[in-house]
Amino acid sequence: MRIAVFGTKRYDRQYLTEANAGFGHELLFLEPRLDRVTAPLADGAPAICAFVNDQLDAAVLETLAAAGTRIVSLRCAGYNNVDLAAAQRLGLPVVRVPAYSPHAVAEFAIGLLLALDRKIHRAWARVRENNFALDGLIGRNLHGRCVGVIGTGRIGALVARTLKLGFGCEVLASDVAESAELAAIGIRYVSREELFARAEIVTLHCPLTPDTRHMIDDAVIAAARDDLVIVNTSRGALIDTRALIAGLKSKKIRGVALDVYEQEADLFFEDLSNEIIDDDDFQRLLTFPNVLVTGHQAFLTEEALRGIAHTTLANVSEFEAGRPLVNQLGPHHVHPK
Ligand code: NAD
Repeated sequence: MRIAVFGTKRYDRQYLTEANAGFGHELLFLEPRLDRVTAPLADGAPAICAFVNDQLDAAVLETLAAAGTRIVSLRCAGYNNVDLAAAQRLGLPVVRVPAYSPHAVAEFAIGLLLALDRKIHRAWARVRENNFALDGLIGRNLHGRCVGVIGTGRIGALVARTLKLGFGCEVLASDVAESAELAAIGIRYVSREELFARAEIVTLHCPLTPDTRHMIDDAVIAAARDDLVIVNTSRGALIDTRALIAGLKSKKIRGVALDVYEQEADLFFEDLSNEIIDDDDFQRLLTFPNVLVTGHQAFLTEEALRGIAHTTLANVSEFEAGRPLVNQLGPHHVHPK
């Protein structure tokens, strides 16, 4: 089947091409991100492939469907950028990669936490300038800390388990569905309020929905512990960026590690090193010594890219063969606006 792959990077081309040896689809690699302007580039391809910051609103989906696209295959797990109700109205199935390597994201989240709290990124910058002084680099042990994990699905469960069993943290969890396996190893489910009141570190692993949007806002930060550390490898809009900046300025927040950012669609995945960034909130975040930002790379391991490419293409093959679409997003995935 012809698949128009939007927002193609070198690694997408490499891993999709390798995986396609087992599928035989016709891959049309397009560099632009999918949005209202670029949607016509699909040019009637029966399948299109999109990523996290591609825009799949009603207008884009209508353009694609009108030109002949019959299936949308997301090469990611999250789908908050897709108007699923519009896709259903248009009879356009949307498939995704629900799980590829949760280890990739879980390991990165813990890596970010360690880098931030042990100031590894700052030490590296110093050593490159032959500055071996240790002043200002004092960290804290992770062992014995109270960590709150919000969302204990595939990724959050791994993070919770590793922090509990590997690092010896006290782990509190919050989720709409509790895991008996995590409870059995001593991870305690509490309300979101109790979690923020007690945890020294909070790491976010729930999806972005109307219920979770800005779950960290002014009020939550005010009610949290004074030395709160926040890690977000999930979706940027879980945090109200302005509230975060206020919390950092007032020194209420001890540190923040972000792999995702509310307005990342305008920035991430591109080399903007010669550009003027006009996002003042993002630029302000980068000025804090206790903020560490990466550009949505938690998923980026060889294993994950292989898994993503395979499932993305297998999803299209299922559609082509008329088989049930096991990874289709259904009506229960549509969140009320
Ligand atoms: P998952 O579906 O396995 O787990 C999500 C968990 O969040 C579920 O247990 C669910 O019950 C819970 N949840 C839903 N609503 C909640 C709420 N209101 N409060 C608390 N918990 C709630 O998903 P996953 O594979 O573990 O992925 C988690 C998130 O990580 C995804 O939503 C995605 O946005 C993000 N992600 C980021 C990257 C990256 O590269 N940074 C890569 C993959 C996934």
